[in-house]
Amino acid sequence: MKLEDFKRIVDQNPFVSSIHLQGFGEPLLCADLFPMIQYAKSHGIEIGTGTNGTLLTRENIQKILESGLDYLGISVDGSTPDTFEAIRRGTSFHQIMKNINNLLEHRGSSEKPRITFSVCVSNRNFRELPEIIQLAGEMGIEGVSALQALSFHEDSIRSRLNDSEFQISPAETNEILLESVSLAKKLHMPFDWCGSGQRGLDLISRGASLQNVREMCKKISYMCYISADGYVTACVQNTNPERDNFGNVFKTDLIDLWRSPSYRDFRERFYRGEIPDYCRYCTVVHS
Ligand code: SF4
Repeated sequence: MKLEDFKRIVDQNPFVSSIHLQGFGEPLLCADLFPMIQYAKSHGIEIGTGTNGTLLTRENIQKILESGLDYLGISVDGSTPDTFEAIRRGTSFHQIMKNINNLLEHRGSSEKPRITFSVCVSNRNFRELPEIIQLAGEMGIEGVSALQALSFHEDSIRSRLNDSEFQISPAETNEILLESVSLAKKLHMPFDWCGSGQRGLDLISRGASLQNVREMCKKISYMCYISADGYVTACVQNTNPERDNFGNVFKTDLIDLWRSPSYRDFRERFYRGEIPDYCRYCTVVHS
């Protein structure tokens, strides 16, 4: 998305309070990322983004710190080089850890950006979740959020993950989650499992099954996704916004799209249980 288009969206929608600047791809590759962050901040909007950590160079770290970014989620899919590099092919675990430590060191005692680990959980790394939390605690990271890789509904993406089924038994899954929750608690570290929030963690702590911590998704009632081309959809998990959208924000104001009959109808049907395909594998959905 061009900077001018981003500014137009911000200007036209003064009610927006928070923006997460990320779709599928690496935000630090976007030439206008920092001007966008600064523009949003100058309008009092909370803004965050994510990165795979490969481009956390000295120069980018400086820009991040100067931009006013509120939070940064860094993809850390393993606590060891073997696991990390098998998932994040072509990267170096040690280099990414060095980059993160540089960022933490330069940020010093400043509260911004809040730095968290984002873990894309699959068969390959789920058993390492407690170690990833431990690693985060040792490094001084301020939170860990984990999301199951299976929430990607497109077969092409799922097959590229080479990990198409979550084969860990529900009993072992709960055991690992329980260990993760208590470790995070001990480290005073916020931990989120698939968007289940504090209620979900409390239920896990009391031994509830995973099915019970899956709540009906609330995201669609207060947020939307805008693709780089301006297409508006309910969620970033819709990987084909050009084909399946509620309109384009470069042609129609966002508020009009949000209130349009088709978008209203989508929300109503959603809460009646008629979920779109891209929600099928999502771990947030279900009542
Ligand atoms: S339930 Fe659907 S809309 Fe909600 S987060 Fe999951 S994929 Fe997105």
